[in-house]
Amino acid sequence: MKRREWIGSLTALAFSGLSAYANKKAESLPKILLQEEEKQTESWTQGNIRFTWLQDNNGEKRMPNSLFSGADAETIQRLSPEGGALATISCFLVQSNGKNILFDTGNGKADSRLLPNLASLQIQPEDIDYLFLTHFHGDHIGGMLSQDKVVFTQAEVYVPQQEYDAWIQMPADKNQQVVKTMKAYEKKLHKINGGDKLPEGIIALNAFGHTPGHTIYQVKNTLIAGDLLHGAAIQIPHPEVCASFDMDKKLAIQCRKQYLQYVKDKHLTLAGMHLPVPGFMDWKKI
Ligand SMILES: [Zn+2]
Repeated sequence: MKRREWIGSLTALAFSGLSAYANKKAESLPKILLQEEEKQTESWTQGNIRFTWLQDNNGEKRMPNSLFSGADAETIQRLSPEGGALATISCFLVQSNGKNILFDTGNGKADSRLLPNLASLQIQPEDIDYLFLTHFHGDHIGGMLSQDKVVFTQAEVYVPQQEYDAWIQMPADKNQQVVKTMKAYEKKLHKINGGDKLPEGIIALNAFGHTPGHTIYQVKNTLIAGDLLHGAAIQIPHPEVCASFDMDKKLAIQCRKQYLQYVKDKHLTLAGMHLPVPGFMDWKKI
């Protein structure tokens, strides 16, 4: 529904006698309009492939400086003077040969923006043909279920084998969401390893460290880099800095250095699940 129509139907509602409902709607009107003005998707193309950044978080997101370690506090403060580095929770849509391919699914919280942002591109959850996961943290798999029901009903789901194996073996207090989600998609799961041949020429690259099987994807000249970076303003100049979420810090640093160099050497576009708006950047900015 276009905004004018929406306001029109709201006005109609206000006069329809459903006053309690209408009043409730009217109270929230300015906030909703504000949200619509925010940029939450942006596309770019490479050859016949169209990429779209999809923001999942609602409103501004910063990663607090206190999450970062590996450089002195003064350096971190200088690079991130607001007390937190600008970031997002993002997903990416790749459209190639008529297929809709989604990378990660965001948090799946009540105010998550992934599904409304997909709808703004005329894409419904059942239109997703393939879902690729970088790793199993909640801000990446949370959108796969809604009230315990499968959201992407038609999608073939590609998960890193090493990530799957590691999380399944974790204690129940750590892996409850993973177990429930993977069980729900059981018949659609494809466990993959770095170097496997994947649909639409997608290349999986091992980027272990952030999590045991963290995997990133190269599509044409774009690297969909998962959680290689949490605070770009700090970690691009200082890749030796880790966010507290990096499970194996030594390995995470090694991967961050290696793949930032790879992006520069190959002149790739870097797309990241926590890069600041608009979620992607040119290699020249690295
Ligand atoms: Zn994350």
